[in-house]
Order: sequence, then C-alpha cells, then structure tokens
Amino acid sequence: MPTETFEFQVEARQLLQMMIHSIYSNKDVFLRELISNASDALDKLRLEALRDDTLDADVSDLHIAIETDPEARTLTVRDNGIGMSHDEVVQLIGTIANSGTAKFLQELKQAKDEATAEGLIGQFGVGFYAAFMVADEVTLVTRRAGQGEGTRWSSTGEGTYTVEPVDGAPQGTAVTLHLKPVDQEDQLFDYTSRWKIREIVKRYSDFITWPVRMAAEAPAEQKEGEAEEEKAAPEPETLNSMKALWARSRDEVSDEEYHELYKHISHDWTDPLETLRMQAEGTFEYQALLFLPARAPQDLFAREHKRGVQLYVKRVFIMDHCEALLPEYLRFVKGVVDAQDLSLNVSREILQQDRQIQLMHRRLVKKVLSTVKEMMAQRPENYATFWREFGRVVKEGLLSDHENRDAILRIASFATTRDQEEPATLQQYVERMKEGQEHIYFMTGESRTAIENSPHMEAFRDKGYEVLLLTDPVDEVWVETVPEFDGKPLRSIAKGEADLAEEETEEAKAEREQRQEDFAGLLSWMTERLGEQVKEVRLSSRLTVSPACIVSDTDDVTPALRNMYRAMGQELPEAKRILELNPGHPLVEGLRKAQAERPDDADLAGTAELLHGMALLAEGGELSDPARFTKLMAERLERAL
Ligand code: ADP
Repeated sequence: MPTETFEFQVEARQLLQMMIHSIYSNKDVFLRELISNASDALDKLRLEALRDDTLDADVSDLHIAIETDPEARTLTVRDNGIGMSHDEVVQLIGTIANSGTAKFLQELKQAKDEATAEGLIGQFGVGFYAAFMVADEVTLVTRRAGQGEGTRWSSTGEGTYTVEPVDGAPQGTAVTLHLKPVDQEDQLFDYTSRWKIREIVKRYSDFITWPVRMAAEAPAEQKEGEAEEEKAAPEPETLNSMKALWARSRDEVSDEEYHELYKHISHDWTDPLETLRMQAEGTFEYQALLFLPARAPQDLFAREHKRGVQLYVKRVFIMDHCEALLPEYLRFVKGVVDAQDLSLNVSREILQQDRQIQLMHRRLVKKVLSTVKEMMAQRPENYATFWREFGRVVKEGLLSDHENRDAILRIASFATTRDQEEPATLQQYVERMKEGQEHIYFMTGESRTAIENSPHMEAFRDKGYEVLLLTDPVDEVWVETVPEFDGKPLRSIAKGEADLAEEETEEAKAEREQRQEDFAGLLSWMTERLGEQVKEVRLSSRLTVSPACIVSDTDDVTPALRNMYRAMGQELPEAKRILELNPGHPLVEGLRKAQAERPDDADLAGTAELLHGMALLAEGGELSDPARFTKLMAERLERAL
C-alpha cells in the first residue's frame, strides 16, 4: 500500500491548532500523556494475552522506553504493548471520540482570557495531541500484537497526516517527537535533557505499574579506538518506582502523587477535589483509592458516558470502567479498587453476580456518602463545589438507592427563598421552621425566577414561610417518592390545599365561612363552565395578589413530570387540575357580582375562560387554544378603550 494522506476531523484540527499555538502553559504534561497511553497499551496486551493463548505476542518484558537524541532533537516514547492496526491508527489518532468535543471547543472559543482557556483544556484533557505543544512534527510507528505489518503515521499537526505501511516494526508503538527549539520564555525546556525527563517521569508517572526506562548514557571515553567486545551494553535506568499508591500507607504518599494518579485514570488535567482511601483487611481484603473530581465532565449526562472505577486484582490491572462497583448516581467517581481474592480472568457478567463485589459496592457507596458529609462539616467550600457540579447526579440516588436514601437527603442542599446565594440543607430548613409548621415546603419549576414569581408563592412569601426551590429535572421525580425527612412530610406548594398552619380566630373562621357561602354560586357555575379543562374551581388561601392559579390534586401527576415521561416515550394519563380563585381580588369579586345579577350573560363565560388561561400562563403553562384566548382578550381590551 502506498502512502495515504488524510485530513484530520474538524474538531481534531481545531484542537491541534490550539496545541501548536500552545495555550496550555504546563507543557511538561505531554510526556505524562504519552506514558499514560503506553501504560494502557501494555495493560491491554497483558489482558488480551491472558484471554487468548493463541495470540502471537511477546509478553516477556513489557515496559516503556524513553530515548533521546540531543543532536537530532528528537524524543521517543516506546512501548511493546498492544499496538495499533492501520485502521486503528486512522480511527484513533485522526479523530477525537469525546462526545463533548464540539461543546468544549465552543466554550474555548468564547473564553475571555488565557486562564479560562487553560482551565477548559485542563478539564478536557487532550491526550496524544499534547505532543504538538512541544513538537513541530510527530511520527508514530506501530505494530499491532499478533499482526505482521506495521504502520507509520506522521504529521506536523497542520490539517493532514500521512499513513504508510512499514516492514520490520517491533510490536507496540513508538512515538517520536521532533522537538521545537528550546525557548525558556515559552517554557519550552530541553526535553532531550536526561534530568528533565527524569524529573517529569518522577513527578507525573512514578506510580505507573510498568517500568519506564531510559537508556544509560554511553560513557564518553568509549568513543574511539576501542575494541567491540569491550563495549558492554550499559544497563538502562528505571525512572519510576512502580509502587501502587493505594497499597502504600498515607504518610508515604504526597497529595501531588495522588493527584497524578487521578489524572492518569480520569484523563482530566485538573486536580481532584477529594481523595478517599480505603483498606479492608480480613477474609476479604481490598484497597481502594477513590477521587471526587473538581468539575463535572461534559458528557456526564450523555448516554455513552463511560463510568466506573478501575479494577485491579493483586496489583494487576483487570479492567477500566468497572460498573459493578459503584451505582449510576455516583458515575462521576474515579479511582482504583484492588481486590486480593478475585480471579484474574473475571468478566463483567461474573462481577455483577459476585457477592464480594456486591459487598465492596456497598462499602464504597457508604464511603463516598460519608466523605461528602464530612466535607459539608469540615470543608464547606469543597462541599459547595461538589454539590454544584454533581448534586443533580447524586439526587438520582434518591430514586434508586433506598438503603441510602436518608444519607443522600442529609448531604443534599437546595436553593431556597430565604437566601439568594446560600443553599439550605434539609436539616437547616427543619431547624428554622416556623412555630407550628409541619411540612417542608417546596416548589419545582424551570428556574428560580419562574418559581419565585409564580402565584403559588404569594401567601407563603407574605407569611414568611421558607420554600425550597427545586429546578433540576430530577427533582420532579424524586419529590414524588420521598415522603418525608426527619418526620417532616415534604409538601409541594403547588399541590393540594395550602394549609398554612395558622391558628384561626373565631372571627376569621366566621369570615371564611361567609365567603364560602357568598362565592358558592360562582364556584359551581365556573366548575360547570370549565368542566372540560378543570376538575374543580375553589377559593384559594395561597393567593394575595393574583386573581387565580392552577394547582394539582395531592396525588396527581404534575404536568412537568408528565412531560418528562413523555420525553422518555411513556404516556401518563392526563389529570385534570384545580383552578383556585382569590376572593380578595377585584376581578374575582366583580365576576361574582356580575354572575349573580346576569346569570345568562354569555360574555361572563368568556371572562371565566380568560381567568383560567391567565392562571395557566402565570405558572408558565400552555394554553389549549391560544387563538381563542387572544380573541377574547382583544374584545375586552377594545371595550375598555
Ligand atoms: P485517550 O488516551 O484519551 O483515549 P489519546 O488521543 O491519547 O486519547 O489516544 C487515542 C487512542 O489512541 C487511545 O485511546 C488508544 O486507543 C490509542 N493509542 C494512543 N497511544 C497508544 C499506544 N501507545 N499504543 C496503543 N494505542 C494507543
């Protein structure tokens, strides 16, 4: 096959441009990325050889080698791992698989300053392409283990790359960087310098479980005039300790080392928010090192989001994204779990059934939840960041994890009417409940503003009741299944009767009964007129300013929840709702009088319809017949001129 030239995918091209123009200041990390890829390739080969004993591959001395040539100004990172076929090279190196790429690039374009741009890159992680921060040309020679022919890939990062077959390529992958000139200003160090390489590997890749070697420097005096046989091959130097961080005691490992492991596992370039260590001894021994990231990845809600921690058995890597160890609602947790007693060739199917895995799963969940609780008390800023980034996901656990529901409720916090900025925990809410208040009041909706301006809020605001403002889609769902917290029932202020726990005086009671009597005629007339749309028309105790609002019956499905189910392809039955009128509003009072005087006036029926339509609009709902609404409205406006 001759040399082929390909164009980079659009996103890949844009990303490469940014790498070439180096908007990321810590350029050293390119080496971490290449070593990380090489280490993954060695893991993959070892696993494949274990599963397939016909694989024609050499697994006798798996390692990573770094070679430098100061004169040619090249740096090569070589592994004898799984390698790539011709098609894999084109597919993996020429495109970016990350589903959040387009969004990420959009944000990057809009980034106002360098620090923001750098933060975004750090969050995204660019892997192999990081090589173009320090190199003006990159060549990759690879041969897939078990295959005969190798492939050479080469590019300057400017739009296209070439691919051609090569003979005699060793198994695995060698990435050769033709380094840009040294430029201290731009933090481009001499990456052919042995001490620089040593320093970078030690700092970023010490824990890599495969040896990272660098050929020893040839002694200078051996250059000329010496006999062949005297040139004993110098022993290569191993640069990393290869110690599994999770198996070492806490005081032996620095925070930076933990953070580098996190970056290796997660492909995130930003430090994690929290590091969690677990050591279980006894009949079922395991160690775990878990991380809570500082930022939610772009694809947290994408269907193809890969979740799960890495599974090791006795220090040997078994699999990435082990879903069986943590539930969906903790899908953002990264880390390593190393179990002593599992078989080396466990499969995903076996893991789902395994009792020990289930036990570990339970313990890991408890550990994560208790750590968040601890953050709440001891590191409130970290907790606030955590909840802002992952609260939406954690709340999914209120639906799926009954065992830990209470623990999840205790680490949750919510926006509240009490304070624009500070969210409240349920504990705090309960502690400051008003005298005689029995319920935890909340309202779900699109946004804080939409809820705060909704008519349902009026009496609660007037009387000084705190209301939780729930605006995440998942809130619509969990509030239906969580009945109470600490013995206090949760109650939507947009459902059922508003039962503000106020002592009613004799006088007020008499007044209310009188009002009920006065309005009885209007209510039954309207209930009949609007019977197609509403279940009932009644007087409201929750309105102070608006003439009317719509509420759902206590046990009925809300429109927002029905819409969510519809989006997932499931139809819930339509439930008619209740129209509540504010007897203190002049429009309602006027309608009452007019209806009593002229019960057959067809015009009043139109006003009743408008009242219902306005209540729907006030809660952000949709009119069933907007054209008719507009017509009725126009007639009345015209008359008022
Ligand atoms: P990431 O590592 O985040 O997936 P990269 O751009 O670094 O992204 O690499 C893309 C893919 O190319 C990897 O997922 C891997 O499949 C393949 N790859 C990269 N380096 C190597 C290597 N040294 N050996 C084998 N495959 C590799």
